[in-house]
Amino acid sequence: MTAAKSCGILYVVATPIGNLDDFSARASRVLNEVDLIAAEDTRHSGQLLRAIGCTTPMISLHEHNEGRRVEELVSHLQDGKDVALISDAGTPLISDPGFALVRALIEKDIRVIPVPGACAVISALCVSALPTDRFMFEGFLPAKSGKRRDHLMQLRREPRTMVFYEAPHRIGDSLEELRQVFGDERNAVVCRELTKVHETIYRGTLKQLCELAATDANMSRGEIVIVLAGCECSEDVASTLQAEQVLEVLLQELPASQAAKLAAKLCKVDRAQMYELAVKSKAGR
Ligand code: SAM
Repeated sequence: MTAAKSCGILYVVATPIGNLDDFSARASRVLNEVDLIAAEDTRHSGQLLRAIGCTTPMISLHEHNEGRRVEELVSHLQDGKDVALISDAGTPLISDPGFALVRALIEKDIRVIPVPGACAVISALCVSALPTDRFMFEGFLPAKSGKRRDHLMQLRREPRTMVFYEAPHRIGDSLEELRQVFGDERNAVVCRELTKVHETIYRGTLKQLCELAATDANMSRGEIVIVLAGCECSEDVASTLQAEQVLEVLLQELPASQAAKLAAKLCKVDRAQMYELAVKSKAGR
């Protein structure tokens, strides 16, 4: 593609997350000009490439073969071939394969160029009407309820807007879990089927969204991003929240009274309040 160079270039190319019109002219040009496309699912991407008239050869690169493929792709690049990396939808490496490849290439001084475009995190965030000056992307939450809850507990005091990817069949349970951890009044946004025909954006408190999830079957259909407002709490509330986190950890090893006493001492909060929470938490386990 470019003359007089020893190594090829890896282009990390974003593809649409639903709406084909979001395919950029540059993405289309790069995919047509490279020697090889590494795609997460070659059959799925085949349809996309046909739509833009691209006949560049493809090989698969997915979570199960990325380790093996890295060497093969390094060798193509070292032979001077240009390669594009795409995933099934959106930006590669964002909850998608490609990290091991990019890291290996940088270590070998091989050039990596981004070709930016659609990404569900950013699309959801920019219509959420929640603060966008600072945010954190959490990807998919752990699938198992216990692990998910432990993970969410660690985010209770997070002041930045949080973005999660979620599977549609779990949306009701996840919203309920978010409500239990962050409270009824915390604002959130559920973005469904962004850029597609059935695009729907649900905004409200976690309590309102849980009620909606129970009555609107559409909420659990299609692809979903959850955007959650950060914590706006005062220092007092923040230290109680921290104490609750400490308490949860201690409760995994100690009886309620001992855990409550230690959490209260460590975080300088009320012991009786900790004990009440410890008893409730033990009962809910
Ligand atoms: N790399 C992709 C990106 O840039 O957004 C994400 C890939 S990840 C495997 C797929 C998840 O992204 C879906 O389960 C969903 O949470 C989110 N997602 C992708 N497309 C979406 C869309 N059109 N609307 C809402 N969420 C979407």
